[in-house]
Amino acid sequence: MAKKSGVCAFCGRKASEVRLLIQGIDAEICDSCAEQAHLIVKEQFGGNEKSYTPSGLALKKPAEIKKFLDQYVIGQDEAKRTLAVAVYNHYKRISQKVQADEVEIEKSNIILVGETGTGKTLLARTIAKMLNVPFAIADATVLTEAGYVGEDVENILVKLLQAADYDVAATERGIVFIDEIDKIARKSDNPSITRDVSGEGVQQAMLKLLEGSIVNVPPQGGRKHPEQKMIAVNTKDILFIAGGAFDGIERLIAARKRTNVIGYGTGGNEALDKDNMLQYLSPADLKKFGLIPEIVGRLPIITHLNPLDADALKRILTEPKNALVKQFQKLFAMDKINLVVKEEVLDFVVEKAIEFKVGARGLRSIMEAILNDAMFEMPSDINATELVIDRAYAEAKLEKSGLQKLHVGD
Ligand code: ADP
Repeated sequence: MAKKSGVCAFCGRKASEVRLLIQGIDAEICDSCAEQAHLIVKEQFGGNEKSYTPSGLALKKPAEIKKFLDQYVIGQDEAKRTLAVAVYNHYKRISQKVQADEVEIEKSNIILVGETGTGKTLLARTIAKMLNVPFAIADATVLTEAGYVGEDVENILVKLLQAADYDVAATERGIVFIDEIDKIARKSDNPSITRDVSGEGVQQAMLKLLEGSIVNVPPQGGRKHPEQKMIAVNTKDILFIAGGAFDGIERLIAARKRTNVIGYGTGGNEALDKDNMLQYLSPADLKKFGLIPEIVGRLPIITHLNPLDADALKRILTEPKNALVKQFQKLFAMDKINLVVKEEVLDFVVEKAIEFKVGARGLRSIMEAILNDAMFEMPSDINATELVIDRAYAEAKLEKSGLQKLHVGD
């Protein structure tokens, strides 16, 4: 039961001395102390008041952001560092109240380049989770297929609105991951040779979103029609993270590097790490690949993800907070079964993922195939308390499952 003391527990003033006394469980607080407390909270959290606002944002420094990412994403240190700084600066920029004579910080969207299944989406999703902001994934390939591209691009924002439960203010601080941006590249970097209008058209439409403007969004998605009520969304503070594999971009990077070497007569003694050309990626390469200069200009933060080697794949199976093996162990534990996956099984799963050329994306399907029989039978077996998986078991089950090939994206 709430006890009434009739005095503010913070300043000690009586009800008669204040305008309002707010009742808590064991004590009261007066209006002016409540206001004071509110100011302290505001100061601490950079003025963010909404529940969907990035809580703790003002407190998380780039190094802490990276640490958070480390819990979920294996490797990709360079991408994490770049992303951490970019996100930190982005939300610093949002919280800045611009005075007329002050320097206005421009928005910096990000582009992640790396093979499929190396963690691009995972990085973007994890950042959004950490910040507690709405997050949506848009597939750029869908935009290419549609006829009236200009309208469809707005559907990217529909997803974000939906993720924010139609809270426009939250939407306007959200993060959008645009997947497969490389697929809307124009096929030739010289527009006068091939007129590949579709790719370029989508890029032009997307530009409007990236640079920050007020976009009228049909709340339910689909095409606009005159009677439909639109929701106006300002994209000024929405962070766009684009991702793509950019197949073959290594060749463009290599060609540019060679030309540079010849052009400046340095004797070509710059040692290039040919196995990882992405580390030399520059905006020029993205343009050469077929992104229009305006889009490249609106994605000023460029970073790359490395291909995952066997060691990284193995770590992905066990280390992240939501690691696959941990997930299966949890599922079995719900039936009071202790699942033990021997180290040799991890090696086997990784070998298969590499053999099937599916990278990290295939790990789950392979694990499912191995464990499916046990997951079917064991819950009905009241005596089952433990399942120990060794390589022979894994080989036999995978063989039986007939899983011989996997396609990326399955
Ligand atoms: P991309 O967007 O680069 O194609 P995703 O981020 O969608 O790849 O990765 C697919 C899945 O593979 C993820 O859900 C995750 O389970 C796993 N994965 C990929 N890369 C990593 C990584 N670096 N660390 C941990 N898990 C990863």
